[in-house]
Amino acid sequence: MTSKYKGYTGRILDVDLTTGKIGEYSLPDRDRERFIGGRYISTKILWDLLKPGIDPLSPDNVLIVMTSPLTGTGAPSTSRYDISAKSPQTGTIGHSNSGGNFGIHLKKAGWDGVIVRGKAQSPVYLDINDDTVTIKDAKDIWGKDIEETKELMGDKRAGKMVIGPAGENLVKYAIVVSQDRAHGRSGMGAVMGSKNLKGIVAKGSKKIELHEPEGFRETIKKWIKMIQAHPATGDFAPKYGTSGFLKSISDHNALPTKNFSSGHYKDAQMLSGQTLAETRLVKNDGCQSCPIRCARVVELDGREIKGPEYEVLCLLGSNMLINDMDAIIRWNYELDILGLDSISTGTVLGFAAELNEKGMWANGIEFGKKENISAVIKSIALRQGIGAELAEGVRFLSQKYGGEDFAPHSKGMELAAYEPRGAVGHGLGYATANRGACHLDGGYMIYFEATGPAILDPYHYRSKPSYTMLDQNLLSAISAGGSCLFTSWTILPSIAFKVPNSRIVSWLVTKILTFAWPAIELTLKMPSYMMRYHLPMLPHSKAIKQATGMDMDFGKFIRMGERGFALERLFNVREGFSAKDDTLPKRFTDEEQISGNAKTKVPLGKMLPAYYKLRGWNANGIPTVETLRKLDLEDMI
Ligand code: SF4
Repeated sequence: MTSKYKGYTGRILDVDLTTGKIGEYSLPDRDRERFIGGRYISTKILWDLLKPGIDPLSPDNVLIVMTSPLTGTGAPSTSRYDISAKSPQTGTIGHSNSGGNFGIHLKKAGWDGVIVRGKAQSPVYLDINDDTVTIKDAKDIWGKDIEETKELMGDKRAGKMVIGPAGENLVKYAIVVSQDRAHGRSGMGAVMGSKNLKGIVAKGSKKIELHEPEGFRETIKKWIKMIQAHPATGDFAPKYGTSGFLKSISDHNALPTKNFSSGHYKDAQMLSGQTLAETRLVKNDGCQSCPIRCARVVELDGREIKGPEYEVLCLLGSNMLINDMDAIIRWNYELDILGLDSISTGTVLGFAAELNEKGMWANGIEFGKKENISAVIKSIALRQGIGAELAEGVRFLSQKYGGEDFAPHSKGMELAAYEPRGAVGHGLGYATANRGACHLDGGYMIYFEATGPAILDPYHYRSKPSYTMLDQNLLSAISAGGSCLFTSWTILPSIAFKVPNSRIVSWLVTKILTFAWPAIELTLKMPSYMMRYHLPMLPHSKAIKQATGMDMDFGKFIRMGERGFALERLFNVREGFSAKDDTLPKRFTDEEQISGNAKTKVPLGKMLPAYYKLRGWNANGIPTVETLRKLDLEDMI
């Protein structure tokens, strides 16, 4: 089946590894109109295919690789594609988006996505060469690390997505890698491992057709120019990468330190992107078609390798009380080639260190101790010794050894590298993100609370439900459309970065932004027909319209984000999740981060009711029938 819309190939490959049957999945255009692409189309397919309650690591789970209409069109930062399944880490919807070159190759081979069902009897990989699709033997590659696998599997010029030993050994937070970019969160590597699927290779020779090629090219030209001229995307991110924010986040008491017991690290400067740029950076790098190029290249043992991102510098740095950037560069490399999510691994190690320090689990992991980290990382990937338990994640460890009040996870996903007591909106995002405590799904409120040039009051809780919902809808729409989330950084006008370093101006901007929350609420309630325009600083909706020919504007785009978010929520509700799971450990909700300052805890109980109401969910966090009708989701009632 094809689609009437351009930008898509209109074809989705459907492979059953149990039977070896290879076919096509038929997706109606109505679902393209409602969910656009990536994680949202995948969630709709998972909704249709999965029985509730299945074991995520059984052959009953379905893995879906999905591109978006902008993937591979040359629009800025659109090499992105998504991998989705029921998550073995959380039991919720699982999805993980990344760059690399696989999505572009897949689309050029004539496929928007791949559905993988069942389980192969022995290790295999899937080889896609235009219309020729073959399930190939991978016994000789099984057990190899990610670098070796990329080298050995399939044609050198093809796009590849592969797992390492962690995925094979079903580590709950195993990743999938394409080129140097990782699908880090939700344990999609373990789902592939459970299917005996070592990787997928795609190579194609087809052209992606566009609805309005001339107009599209014009939009793209202007968009790239804007990104390059913007201080956040044209200067800061290429120069310092994501870790450029590290020091600022510490200054705002939001940098996880010593298993999230504090938000400030005295040696933050030593781990910052600025220090990395001055002392170790060989060059910056980027995903295909990206003018931002936020990735770092550093040297290790005489070789150029991918450098560390903000998350790993924090979680294996400040969170472990380690200020040694060279050690972290090495551990980051080890995590990557073994196929482990650096966020979950870092948070697991921090929690294990606190359990050890408190005498609750003698495991040899200590704050400030570097000597055994490499060995522990390896033991997790291979599930050997204590690694077998660490591989299950923070939730499992807290259930077995105690410490639930300071176990940094929500819904079973380890917290990312932001201490929510220093940014309470970010805390609300963690608790409500559909895949668990994810900073990106949660709306990345930290950008407005502790990193940006003009910030919201990080402790003002009444303003946060509306801002969080807006950001969650916007970021997920951008992701489903096929763009990197960092393209949203242009949302703040350039002038905001040129605000003089004055306390008065900064105080004023913070007050104005914070108390604009009623206006944000009004915007969220506005019918989409009142937003029949495209925003110049966020041209995603315009590019999608020109690429596909769909009736699209900013109102429809942001409503699509809201619809997809509700769809993921419905998936979770069907799996038994509700308001009782929108939680954070007591360390964040009940303990002051700064003793004597009552504002420095996350008032989740005060924010959640307002958030549910805004979203049109009932007090139990379940979308109402009226909301589902409003969002064109009646068929899911
Ligand atoms: S901004 Fe960074 S992560 Fe995003 S597409 Fe560009 S290089 Fe990749």
